[in-house]
Amino acid sequence: MKGGCLCGAVRYEAKTRPIYSGFCHCRDCQRATGTGHCCYMIFSRGDVDFSGDLRAYSKFAENGNITIRHFCATCGSQIFGSGPPEDDRLDDLRRHAGRHLTV
Ligand SMILES: [Zn+2]
Ligand SMILES: [Zn+2]
Repeated sequence: MKGGCLCGAVRYEAKTRPIYSGFCHCRDCQRATGTGHCCYMIFSRGDVDFSGDLRAYSKFAENGNITIRHFCATCGSQIFGSGPPEDDRLDDLRRHAGRHLTV
């Protein structure tokens, strides 16, 4: 799977199928997307390659875990979410609250 941001400055490519995918309805995802939920896929860090200039915003989720959202420095498109660097997964909804998971 390949993709990128709105302006094309950031590109990514996943080398495997996602571990799982679904929707998250937590307040952070609602605020970050401006909609009722976000759609996501979970990968291990080593299975996705990125290029381009990314910025990051970190905060504590409602359940107390640190979440980091990574976005394009030019157009602001959210590219992926992660935990701290020692966490292998690029996103993990155990960090969020109020999730609705579809596999
Ligand atoms: Zn961009
Ligand atoms: Zn969420």
